[in-house]
Amino acid sequence: MAYATTNPYTEEVVATFPEATDQDIQTALSEAHAAFEKWRDTSFAERARILNAAAAILRRDIDKYARLGTLEMGKTFAESKAEVILSAEILEYYGKYAEGLLKPESLPVADPAEGKAVLVHEPLGIVFAVEPWNFPFYQVVRIIAPQLSAGNAVLLKHASNLPQCAASCEELMLEAGLPKGLFRNLYAARSHTAMILNDPRVCGVALTGSEGAGAIIAAVAGQALKKATMELGGADAFIVLDDADVEKAAQWAVMGRHWNAGQVCVSAKRLIVADAVYDQFLDLYKKGVAELKAGDPMDPSTTLAPLSSRAAVEDLHRQVEEAVKHGAKVEVIGQEVPEKGTFFRPLLMTGLDENNAARHWEFFGPVTQLYRAKDEADAIRIANDSPYGLGGAVFTKDEARGTRVAAKIRTGMVNINHPLIPKADLPFGGIARSGFGRELVGLGIKEFVNHKLINVVDIDAPA
Ligand code: NAP
Repeated sequence: MAYATTNPYTEEVVATFPEATDQDIQTALSEAHAAFEKWRDTSFAERARILNAAAAILRRDIDKYARLGTLEMGKTFAESKAEVILSAEILEYYGKYAEGLLKPESLPVADPAEGKAVLVHEPLGIVFAVEPWNFPFYQVVRIIAPQLSAGNAVLLKHASNLPQCAASCEELMLEAGLPKGLFRNLYAARSHTAMILNDPRVCGVALTGSEGAGAIIAAVAGQALKKATMELGGADAFIVLDDADVEKAAQWAVMGRHWNAGQVCVSAKRLIVADAVYDQFLDLYKKGVAELKAGDPMDPSTTLAPLSSRAAVEDLHRQVEEAVKHGAKVEVIGQEVPEKGTFFRPLLMTGLDENNAARHWEFFGPVTQLYRAKDEADAIRIANDSPYGLGGAVFTKDEARGTRVAAKIRTGMVNINHPLIPKADLPFGGIARSGFGRELVGLGIKEFVNHKLINVVDIDAPA
C-alpha cells in the first residue's frame, strides 16, 4: 500500500509519499496525547474560534482545495468546490453549537430533596479516523469538527490515493491555530491499526469505508476493547410511487446516481419504480443519462467524472460481468466516454430477481439497478430486500404517504422527494451492513465522550 497521487484523468503518477514508520506513529501518539491534556481544558469559545478560522480558510482558498481533490480522485471541479463549502459549513456548525450540544444535563430524580444528578460529557482522548477517498475533505471534517469540538485529539489515516489532500487537512488546521499534534495526518501502514488501537491513550476508531475494511478494523478495536463507529457501504433505494412528479423524479435520479461519478455511499443505486409510471420514468431517465458528458473534470461542461482509479474501473467491470452471469441484463445508456482516463460508461441493469445475488451488491460507479414494483407495498419490499441500511428516497406528491413509506424503510436516513445528499446540519449513518454509530449533529459529537454521572446526594438520604 503506497501513498501516491495518480491523476485519474491523465492516469499519471504525480507524486509518491513514504509510509510512516513505527517511530513516526509513536511520536504522533505522544504529541497528540500531550496536546489533548491541554485541549481538554480549553474553552468551547477558543475551540470554536479555531474551527471558524479553518472554515474561513476553506472558503478563501476554495479553488486550491477543490483543485487538489479533483487532481487526486477525479471528481469534477464544481463537485469539489461544493464539497469544500460543505466542509466549511460543518466546521461552522460545531463552532456554533458544540457547547450547547455538550451542556451538562440535569437528570430527573425520584426525590429531588435527596440530591441532584447531572450528566456531563467529557472528552476521552485520541480518536483514530480511517477515511475513504470519495470525499477527500468532507469525510475528514465530519470527524475532526465534532471530535476537536468535544475536546478530543484526532489521528488520521486517509485513503492512500489522497496523500496531498490528507496533508492539506493537517496544514489547514495548523493555519487556523490548532495546537500542534492535536490533529495529525499519518501515512499509516495497515499494521499500524493494531498499534494505534492498543495504545491506552487512544479511545476509539471512526471508520468510513468498505465492509471489508470495517470488519477488520472493528475486530481490532474489539480486541483492544475500544469503541468503534462504522460508516460503511450502501445500496440506497430510490422509490418512485405512482403519484410522483415523474419528470422531476427522473431528473433527481440521474443526478442521484451519477454525481461524484456514482461513487457515493448514499448514491441512488437501486431505482424502484411503480408499474404505473415505470415506462414514462425509464424513458426520461435514459434521456437524462444520455445527456451526461464525460471529460476533463476541470472543464465546467463536464458532468460525468472519471472514477477514482484504474482499479476501480476494472473492479466495477468485473462486478457487472458477475451480475450478468447470475442473470442480470445490462444496457449501455450513457454516451461514449474518452478512452484515456478512468471513465466508466453508464449502464442500466435489470433482471435482478430473487435468484440473482447481484441484487444485494453495491456497485460503486455509474451502474443503475432498476426494479419494477407492482405497487407501494412491493416497492417497500424491494427496498428492504438489501443487506445494507444506509439511506433512501421516496418520491410522491403526497407528503403523508411519503412519510408513511419512509417509516417502513429499514435504513438510517430517508429523504422524501429528494435524493439523499449530505448536509452539515443533519445526522449521517446507517444500520445493518451499512455500519453503526452516527456522524454529525449532536449524535456525532457524543460518540467519543464519557457520559459521566455526577450525583450529589444528601448524606442522610436512605440507602
Ligand atoms: P476502503 O477500501 O474500505 O478504504 C477506506 C479506508 O480504509 C482507506 O483509508 C483505506 O486505506 C482503509 N483501509 C482499508 N482496509 C484497511 C485495513 N485492512 N487496515 C487499515 N486500513 C484499511 O473503502 P473505499 O473503497 O476507499 O471506499 C468506498 C466504500 O466506502 C464504499 O463501500 C462506500 O459505500 C463506503 N463509504 C461509506 C460512507 C458512509 O458514510 N457510510 C461514506 C463514503 C464511503 P487504503 O486507501 O490505504 O487502502
